[in-house]
Amino acid sequence: MTPVNHNKKALEAVDDYAEYRRIVGDDDGGKLFTPEEYEEYKRRVLPLRMKNRLYVSFGVPGGIDCKQIGPETQCFCEHRYKQHQTEFEVIPSERPIALQCKVSGCRCSSYNYIPQPGCAMVRCKCKHLPQDHSEAAGHLCKKCKVCSGFQSPYTCGCGRPSFEHRTLVETKQERLARGQPVGKDVPYAAMGGLTGFTSLLDGYLALQVLSEGNSLYSRGFYLKSKLMHLDACFEKSFVRPLLIAAACLPSVPHHLRPQSDSHGRCDVPIQLKTEKTTAWRGAR
Ligand SMILES: [Zn+2]
Ligand SMILES: [Zn+2]
Ligand SMILES: [Zn+2]
Ligand SMILES: [Zn+2]
Ligand SMILES: [Zn+2]
Repeated sequence: MTPVNHNKKALEAVDDYAEYRRIVGDDDGGKLFTPEEYEEYKRRVLPLRMKNRLYVSFGVPGGIDCKQIGPETQCFCEHRYKQHQTEFEVIPSERPIALQCKVSGCRCSSYNYIPQPGCAMVRCKCKHLPQDHSEAAGHLCKKCKVCSGFQSPYTCGCGRPSFEHRTLVETKQERLARGQPVGKDVPYAAMGGLTGFTSLLDGYLALQVLSEGNSLYSRGFYLKSKLMHLDACFEKSFVRPLLIAAACLPSVPHHLRPQSDSHGRCDVPIQLKTEKTTAWRGAR
């Protein structure tokens, strides 16, 4: 087996790059900022980003949030949340807030989440796939004339049909008014609705795991305290949830673990800081 090279400087360089990417996203247009440009970017963008953060979730109006949208979560247009306009210098006053897709040639006028349970493709009532429909508002079918706009008959884990749900974009104040968590202020781009480890679970599962006296099984309290501990570490470490969840929560059944998307990518960018991973494991 090839020995792994634990060159500290190399690991730090990887960390620095990962941190740079989480902060800058694609704002450097593919050409790395110089150290001066990076500092200037942080000075200019971060205060506004933290002040004007928009939270994005998917749920039935008046009900629970069934899904928190993260940077890698796919839109109806097949592009990821981070590829849409996710921040504004001045938050628009009109509602809903439209987060347009920034990918050249895409006609998506606002981020719109469509649940894709497991590997199965959700079809419209007209029997055609999401990609057979226009990504432009209205989502009309390009393959038939009977469709009046994409409508999925899929029933969400909350028990309500998918078409009763909506993608909600809201400010910190609006989210607080709904009694939803806002997490700590973080400098990272396109965080959407992610505020902690439990926001990676589907809403109804997080509720089941976290609510007092409603534990899924006899080790519910153990799970709850572990999840709260992970939430506390989330903003600090921002680590790979799939690996960490597997390492810290060996008793969580597979269907309760955070979901990766259809491409196997997880909602949270990967962090490679091995010391932190070890520290977490040590906290078990
Ligand atoms: Zn889109
Ligand atoms: Zn798009
Ligand atoms: Zn159709
Ligand atoms: Zn259709
Ligand atoms: Zn739901």
